[in-house]
Amino acid sequence: MGRILIDPQNIRGLKLRLEGAPAHHILRVLRKKPGDIFEITDGQGRDYEVRLENGAENTLVGAIVREGKEPSHRAQGPSVFQAIPKSQRMDWIIEKAVELGAGTIQPLWTKRSVVIPRSKDMTAKLGRWRRIAGEALAQSGGTRLCAVHAPCSLNEAALQINPSHLTLVAWEKEKSTTLKEVLDRRGIPINIFVGPEGGFAPEEIELLKARGAQTVSLGARTLRSETAPIMILSAILYEQNICPPSPEASAGHPPGSKSDIAPKRSEGG
Ligand code: SAM
Repeated sequence: MGRILIDPQNIRGLKLRLEGAPAHHILRVLRKKPGDIFEITDGQGRDYEVRLENGAENTLVGAIVREGKEPSHRAQGPSVFQAIPKSQRMDWIIEKAVELGAGTIQPLWTKRSVVIPRSKDMTAKLGRWRRIAGEALAQSGGTRLCAVHAPCSLNEAALQINPSHLTLVAWEKEKSTTLKEVLDRRGIPINIFVGPEGGFAPEEIELLKARGAQTVSLGARTLRSETAPIMILSAILYEQNICPPSPEASAGHPPGSKSDIAPKRSEGG
């Protein structure tokens, strides 16, 4: 079962109070009854097991019976700078990227972008992308919400590059440096740039390189713009071995690293 994403303000001490869509989901879709346990996350690295105390219509009260916190040493997931592809493909990219642990997603328009978002469409689109990111986090059992930023130009995105990060630009004209070669620098935050259907323009590659980015090949085949980030995120998970069983799991606890101790919070009503 996934985790339901809630606003941390719904937790007071050892009590959860929920209204609206998340409560509806727990009561009507998951059909939880008083005494049943369900899992929630605040999207900020904490997850909880909650025992339903009572629920009616779209309102419920639960008691927190267990709290888990993502280990603080765990690196933030990669930041994906993705040129917005045609039609609804960005929806798919966001869903899959969140499942694969992306930390942030920065939609981009570039010189060769087919899609230049109009600001009047953007509010609705961004709302949908953020909802998809929240649902993908809940479904995949993650605990840290992936931020989906408002689209910006490649030039603006280049200014965001932190030179101490490992910034990779997927470029089909790169013939020597492979993804595998550059992924051995563990623990460094990673940024990934993926171009649109028409690829990056040469001057965009020069700009990104000037900001310290490294171009990488994803192999001899030309991947679709939506396939490339998924391949890179999968390779990062594999290469960095981010998902071994936790020490607790190997000691007999289920993965998800929960403490058996009830949270040390004061009862807040
Ligand atoms: N129009 C370009 C061409 O024909 O060469 C292809 C662009 S591709 C469909 C979209 C994006 O996916 C590229 O900008 C790049 O970021 C990434 N990509 C696809 N295949 C790649 C590969 N083999 N190596 C590196 N990047 C790749």
